[in-house]
Amino acid sequence: MDMFFLDYRDPLFSIIIFFAIIFAITFFSYWWGRYKRKEDYKHLNRFLRQFRTVPSKDELKFLVSKGEMSQKSWLLLASSYYKNGEYEKAIEIYNEILKVTEKQNSKETMFLLGKTYFKAGFLERSKQIFLEILKHYPRTPQALHYLLLVYEYMRDYKSAAEVLEPLDELQEDVALDSLYLGVLQLLNDTSVPESKKTEQLIKLYEQNHQLTYTIFEYLFRVDKALAWKHLENSKAELLLDILWNLDRKDLNLDIISKNGYLRELYSAKGYLDLAASSSVFEFDILIKLEGKANATLSFEYVCESCKGVYPFAFSRCKVCHAIDTQRIEWSLSRDYIKDFSEENNSFQ
Ligand SMILES: [Zn+2]
Repeated sequence: MDMFFLDYRDPLFSIIIFFAIIFAITFFSYWWGRYKRKEDYKHLNRFLRQFRTVPSKDELKFLVSKGEMSQKSWLLLASSYYKNGEYEKAIEIYNEILKVTEKQNSKETMFLLGKTYFKAGFLERSKQIFLEILKHYPRTPQALHYLLLVYEYMRDYKSAAEVLEPLDELQEDVALDSLYLGVLQLLNDTSVPESKKTEQLIKLYEQNHQLTYTIFEYLFRVDKALAWKHLENSKAELLLDILWNLDRKDLNLDIISKNGYLRELYSAKGYLDLAASSSVFEFDILIKLEGKANATLSFEYVCESCKGVYPFAFSRCKVCHAIDTQRIEWSLSRDYIKDFSEENNSFQ
């Protein structure tokens, strides 16, 4: 029993005390290190958080009116918010700047505010801002262009067409805008029957040879026979996704057999056997695969003006607002529809 009790003069007692002290020091320094790391992390987080939040409305009001930061710096800050898609913050800054700016110097800030409202989807507010600018400065083509866009997005094509007149007086080229608005107005007019619409669209197309995709997308949707009849050979590539997605029963074999590009396209699709190879790499691969692999074409839409790439077709680019600048790009991809139908068949 005595073996469990040590005398304090026993050398073993000193060794135990020594190790106990070492253990206590190690434990304390480990715990202190952990605590410090946690505190540093919290401090850094608190420091970074203040850059992520914009000053509140009242703080902003105070900061702008105090004038410690130049108006140019505020405009730069608002513009960086605009570029990051944080439109509400940009709008708050522009509104505060307008409150402290004299009316005669506020045109530029109002234009930026109108542009931001438009981008954020507040079309009515954006319209009011551009109308206010034009009331004082009627010869401002930038504001007129944006007002036209606002009316177009609001589907008020009549008012949009009225904006073309002052733009024309300012020597701006409005021919394509005028044609585009005419086509949109016709397509959205529910009082005009489909047959009348197709007739007028073909007439507009034959006069101008523009807006091919917008016009033929509608024609191939409502009257495929008429669309085939008026399709120009050289425009087939502009409509590749529409032609590729047609049903086998909707093909016009007379027209396809006379056009090399269409022969290769539908041979690649597997509908026809009219080409053994193609100069288009993706068509060539698909022709040679002869449907032995689940491959198809997938499409992307490039704006020739701003070079942006988008997953959906467009008539007016959403970013640079250019009209009829779409180019289709295609690539080989897995055919999920074929995969899905084969899977379903295997369950039956
Ligand atoms: Zn663009």
